[in-house]
Amino acid sequence: MMEPVKKYCNSLTKYSRYKTREVSVGDVPLGGSNPIRIQSMTTTDTMNTIATVEQSIRMINAGCDYVRITAPSINEAQNLLNIKNELHKRGYKTPLIADIHFTPNAAELAAKIVEKVRVNPGNYADRKKFQTLEYTDAQYNEEIDRIREKFSPLVNICKEYGTAMRIGTNHGSLSDRIMSRYGDTPLGMVESALEFLRICEDLNYHNIVLSMKSSNPQVMIQAYRLLIQKMEMESMNYPLHLGVTEAGDGEDGRIKSALGIGALLEDGIGDTVRVSLTEEPECEVPIAISLVNRYLNRNDHESIISIHDIPYDPFNYKRRETFEVTSLGGTNVPKVFLDLSDRSSIGLTDLGAIGYNYNSTLDKWSVNEQACDFIYLGKNDLTFDAPNNLKLINDFEKWQTLEDKTKGIPLFESLEQFSSSKTKSFVLNFVKLDLTTVISDQLKLIANDPAVVFILTTKNNHGMAEQRRAFLELKNKDVKNPVVILRKYNIDNEKLLLYSSTDFGALLIDGFGDGVWLSGKDQTDNKNLVFLNRTCFGVLQAARTRISKTEYIACPSCGRTLFDLVEVTNKIRNRTEHLKGVKIAIMGCIVNGPGEMADADYGYVGSGAGKITLYRGKEVVRKGVNSENAVEELISIIQGDGRWILPF
Ligand code: SF4
Repeated sequence: MMEPVKKYCNSLTKYSRYKTREVSVGDVPLGGSNPIRIQSMTTTDTMNTIATVEQSIRMINAGCDYVRITAPSINEAQNLLNIKNELHKRGYKTPLIADIHFTPNAAELAAKIVEKVRVNPGNYADRKKFQTLEYTDAQYNEEIDRIREKFSPLVNICKEYGTAMRIGTNHGSLSDRIMSRYGDTPLGMVESALEFLRICEDLNYHNIVLSMKSSNPQVMIQAYRLLIQKMEMESMNYPLHLGVTEAGDGEDGRIKSALGIGALLEDGIGDTVRVSLTEEPECEVPIAISLVNRYLNRNDHESIISIHDIPYDPFNYKRRETFEVTSLGGTNVPKVFLDLSDRSSIGLTDLGAIGYNYNSTLDKWSVNEQACDFIYLGKNDLTFDAPNNLKLINDFEKWQTLEDKTKGIPLFESLEQFSSSKTKSFVLNFVKLDLTTVISDQLKLIANDPAVVFILTTKNNHGMAEQRRAFLELKNKDVKNPVVILRKYNIDNEKLLLYSSTDFGALLIDGFGDGVWLSGKDQTDNKNLVFLNRTCFGVLQAARTRISKTEYIACPSCGRTLFDLVEVTNKIRNRTEHLKGVKIAIMGCIVNGPGEMADADYGYVGSGAGKITLYRGKEVVRKGVNSENAVEELISIIQGDGRWILPF
């Protein structure tokens, strides 16, 4: 029986793909029961036929099912024909997608050449003025009529040529019309697509794919969920293209993408995926494949007891209410837990790997912004005094033997062990439990014990869903103990980064979890420990539940990019990465950049050859700055705003 999920997926407990209608894109259909398709976008100048063809081939060889190419004007749209012909000549028939902004004539031409066009309803035939206008109903309807007139010719061409279309909403580039009525909310994003979709439906054109991208995974996830709910209400089932836009590069870009895309894939949502990183497009492809392939056999997971009373709102973030136990739960930020129990010994300098640096001359610890909060020692001891902020966890048996029991926190392997034990901590006990225990009557024995924090485990292949089910049970039973989410992965670090981002992130985004406990294959190597610690903080930052560093919103670059994005992003990062909580957007062009910066505090935007325009929020503060001075100018703006601090 289908669960009465506030309808955005088939089930919160049984994995199954959300069924959409099939859309034909050349010879590679998507949606329906087709595999989840992989795509990426070229970064070459579209007018450079050979460079674009060669990059497309690298992307196809890496595993792209479709190649997207920017077509900012009629010239690039026309050149798509040369690119397509050259690809065919070299034996590649992969469908091409033209990426359109602003220019209907480029779209109309491209739609006659390539297999799919992508339009952004926020800027198709609409230049954003960043004005807050009040629209009366009559004015609003006039605007819709104007859009209909501009957009219908493209729809008719797509119908005639059998071309597919993606109506791709971006959180950062909603039209003034939508902003005035809905704000930059998930609902605004959905309505933005629906305005265009209704025009397509009126014209009996259905070869459509939809997307709801944002650089904030929380907004992106809520928008896709809401879109499905609205489509269900209007009896629509168009396939969905998933992506987190302007995710950035390196680990942070991967974490953000895995969190946003993975959380939706977990619920069976998504028909095609693009991971967008500020890196070469062929680097994006293996990540997308890795995310998607995780679900190939997911249907076979161990069953999870279904739920009929869903006690939370999947469309709005609200943290699960818990009481505070020492620094856990309540209004405290989620804490980071790492496992050092495999180590035969731990030295003073080893703690540097998790954010605590010891100065032997001063006999002092310095603690950085990403210092792990709890370490699990199992049966081991520290042979020195731990830094004040770092808490130590021991197996219960070991803890019992400690002379000074305040130096450790006991971990009980099970609820039975905890309830049968005569010795407990008066302050904080960690108790491991899984869904079976949470559902059982036994839970009453410890529910709402003010000195207990649960460590939630899972062995289920559909582990996120099983842990979510446990959170829902706790809510339904009104149990308010804080909960730490524990995940162990016996996989390489590349996959671990993606999978843990999905598994933790999907729960955090719904307000579940007062801590994350991450274990990998090997914690005996300090390099791995650094990686695991950074991953935990990265996931908490991407879920916006604990901000510990600067956030970079960097566009993935395309044929319009006016500077070397990777180089400039690194340059800006080197100077600003100590500015905790500041969001800096680095955008390749002024045509789309400002519209897509979403909620960045500062923007560094290419505005001409060697020229940069600097923004504070959406406001231009310095125009046409020489690129050699632009990073310094950006810093001086941050300093002027009183948000600059000296690096450590
Ligand atoms: S913002 Fe970046 S990705 Fe977007 S159009 Fe401009 S250069 Fe291309």
